[in-house]
Amino acid sequence: MPKYPMIRPIVVGVFPDFEVSLFLYQRRQGQKADFPILMYVVELEDGKKIVVDTGPCGPEDPSARHHMPIRRTPEMEPRAALENLGVRPEDVETVVLTHLHWDHASNCKLFPNATFFVQKAELQCSLAPNPVQNGQYEVGIPRHMPPWMDAFPQMQPIEGDLHDLARGVHLIGLPGHTPGSMGVLVETRKGVHLIPGDHIPLMANWEGDQKLKHIPGSIHINLDDYHRSFLKIEKVADVILPSHDFITVRYPCYPVME
Ligand SMILES: [Zn+2]
Repeated sequence: MPKYPMIRPIVVGVFPDFEVSLFLYQRRQGQKADFPILMYVVELEDGKKIVVDTGPCGPEDPSARHHMPIRRTPEMEPRAALENLGVRPEDVETVVLTHLHWDHASNCKLFPNATFFVQKAELQCSLAPNPVQNGQYEVGIPRHMPPWMDAFPQMQPIEGDLHDLARGVHLIGLPGHTPGSMGVLVETRKGVHLIPGDHIPLMANWEGDQKLKHIPGSIHINLDDYHRSFLKIEKVADVILPSHDFITVRYPCYPVME
């Protein structure tokens, strides 16, 4: 059992040949690359586990036809990936959804005994989003139920920041990518780590370039909010664990003790 919170990122799918500029606003147009889709397990001092995001459905699922293709090997299947870490989904009591886009909020039925923490603003907007994001929320498709709705009876909406969801684990509002995006701050023995949701899909977003200190993603709802959320992160986080970057899975576990 850990003596301090630890974070384990797990790959639950891959976007093959993905347009890089979708993650990096007005940059690298036309370039393609593979990017992972991640879930995270936060392991607490008492042995309990918090799951952050629930990943996309598999390519064989009927709802897969409503979004861009993903690649998934058997060990990337969320139940298999969790059980590989010794986590039985049925035992998980707490799930945090950084936002309700399909690649972060499917597979909710895996966690029948969990409370799902989500921002109230995200829950509200996901019912009738700005149409530019209808596809990501999978709403407005005849006879199709958006995947995040599976968790609706278990949802616990929160407004803004929540200190100590568990000891040393805090939720922070990071609007911009979506109206109710949020991040998870984890106080570890080696600094405060941030699971940023899609506010920071790649380390390149955070590191910026000569023109811009931090680069937003092209998928966003409000660039002013996006900028303010970056400033908020500067004040509170030491280590960033981007949501769609293979950099995050260089290490199986954080903090990295060397
Ligand atoms: Zn995403």
